[in-house]
Amino acid sequence: MRNQRILISGAGPAGLTLAYWLRYYGFSPTLVERSPSLRIGGYKVDIRGVALEVVKYMGLYGRVKDLQTNMLGASVVDKFGQEIAQMNGDTFNLRISQDLEIIRGDLCRILAQQIEGMTCLFNDSVVAISQGHEGVEVEFENHAPQQFDLVIGADGLHSTVRKLVFGHDSCFAKELGLYISIFSVPNALGLHRWEMEYADSTKLVNLYSPSKDQDAKAAFLFASQALRFDIRDVQKQQQLLSEVYVRVGWEVPKLLAAMKQSKDFYFDSIAQICMSHWSDGRVALVGDAGYCPSPVSGQGTSLALVGAYVLAGELALAKGDYAQAFSQYEKQLRKYVEQNQKLGRNFAKNMTEGHKKNLTVWLHDQFMRLLPGRWIKFVTKQATRRVGRAANAVVLKNYTALLNQ
Ligand SMILES: Cc1cc2nc3c(=O)[nH]c(=O)nc-3n(C[C@H](O)[C@H](O)[C@H](O)COP(=O)(O)OP(=O)(O)OC[C@H]3O[C@@H](n4cnc5c(N)ncnc54)[C@H](O)[C@@H]3O)c2cc1C
Repeated sequence: MRNQRILISGAGPAGLTLAYWLRYYGFSPTLVERSPSLRIGGYKVDIRGVALEVVKYMGLYGRVKDLQTNMLGASVVDKFGQEIAQMNGDTFNLRISQDLEIIRGDLCRILAQQIEGMTCLFNDSVVAISQGHEGVEVEFENHAPQQFDLVIGADGLHSTVRKLVFGHDSCFAKELGLYISIFSVPNALGLHRWEMEYADSTKLVNLYSPSKDQDAKAAFLFASQALRFDIRDVQKQQQLLSEVYVRVGWEVPKLLAAMKQSKDFYFDSIAQICMSHWSDGRVALVGDAGYCPSPVSGQGTSLALVGAYVLAGELALAKGDYAQAFSQYEKQLRKYVEQNQKLGRNFAKNMTEGHKKNLTVWLHDQFMRLLPGRWIKFVTKQATRRVGRAANAVVLKNYTALLNQ
């Protein structure tokens, strides 16, 4: 049963890793990706804890390390641009030991090189899924229908497979009360492997560049009551962002002016995907599609890599019994996922409650006023401990060794 035909929707970190392992175990995976080609570029993402084991099992730790962002450090500034704390890049981004940071597109490129020759239907999407006793009939937007043994949705936060098989986004998306916008801007401050961050209680602005010869990326994160916005109306989204940040100092007015010329403007609400089960018959979900922890957890990429590794390994161990494999996959990962999602929810809670007048907020404000540098370093250290615990909250099986027994 190992040569089962498996369709993977989405060629991001989860889909590409799953494709690699499925082929390694002797399955026949096919990818379908909505973009016309592999999505390269993007923002920087972290690989932490047990996710590093997955990268090592694939023999890719050295390659990822070669392409890591290698950020030297970060400055936290006040509204006048005065530095109030400085940290090295790893400390600032809550990384320890061998943890790595890499541009999402560079990671995808490395992963895609491992599955050369595999069929990938670019510029296409699944539009209908019909399950039967013998397999799954799949209809595509641009290709002829095909039959597969299994279908895996690795198509991200707004997964089409999830919508078609499990239900509308609103059934599973837990909004965290935060909004994010990221776009490229000219590197006017000449940042070189350096990032800068300004934050008040409910708004944060981060600016970084991997090199003084490259554009910088500006990221805006803010807490707000539910906002209505059309995902396709970039002009309205930009207007909204300008209104939210109208009285914020530092470089913000210049960044908002540069936003209008930016070609990669991104805006979305911050949400998690919380589901009681990640499979239905012959269809399962992996990565953000099934259990997005949100960008503010910093753990989305690690969950995608670990999820793909475990799903493929359990399918191989179960020798074609997909129901058993899907059940084991959930059993292995449920607690790990929940612990990492909790990181995202706690971060969001701190920001959304930033305007409240309670003791915790008052104490935070006092420390920020009196000892901002020390307080930021203390808070960062505590957060690193929590992230480290969650990033290691599962023991991975060595599937290759188990299969060779
Ligand atoms: C703004 C932002 C900042 C982030 N920052 C961090 C960070 O600092 N650290 C971190 O670890 N993580 C971060 N993340 C999260 C991280 O990028 C994701 O959690 C991770 O990429 C999940 O991988 P994935 O493969 O599950 O989904 P994705 O990376 O979303 O990949 C899904 C793929 O599916 C494709 N697709 C979508 N719909 C379809 C369809 N209908 N048919 C076919 N293909 C489709 C997409 O084009 C994409 O290639 C951030 C995310 C965002 C949005």
